[in-house]
Amino acid sequence: MNYAVVTVLAIGAILWILGALKQRRRRGPFAPSKKKLSMQKQSCSYCRRKVNPKELSFYSAPAHGKVIGVCKACKPQAERQSLLRL
Ligand SMILES: [Zn+2]
Repeated sequence: MNYAVVTVLAIGAILWILGALKQRRRRGPFAPSKKKLSMQKQSCSYCRRKVNPKELSFYSAPAHGKVIGVCKACKPQAERQSLLRL
């Protein structure tokens, strides 16, 4: 009888540990990433430097066939190409 109880307890403990590990793994990289996603840095279309999206200026670039985001440093470059500021 005692042996069975110990076995059940051991299995319970193993399941509990596995569950805790799974939860930690689930929480680890994914849970906070939702917030981070919106704060994720975007790369400048010219210099590919990662910058805060707030610091990017967006232009419609017919040559690129899309909208491009440029950082402060590359802004004059975009202005020189007379791209349409959005
Ligand atoms: Zn740039």
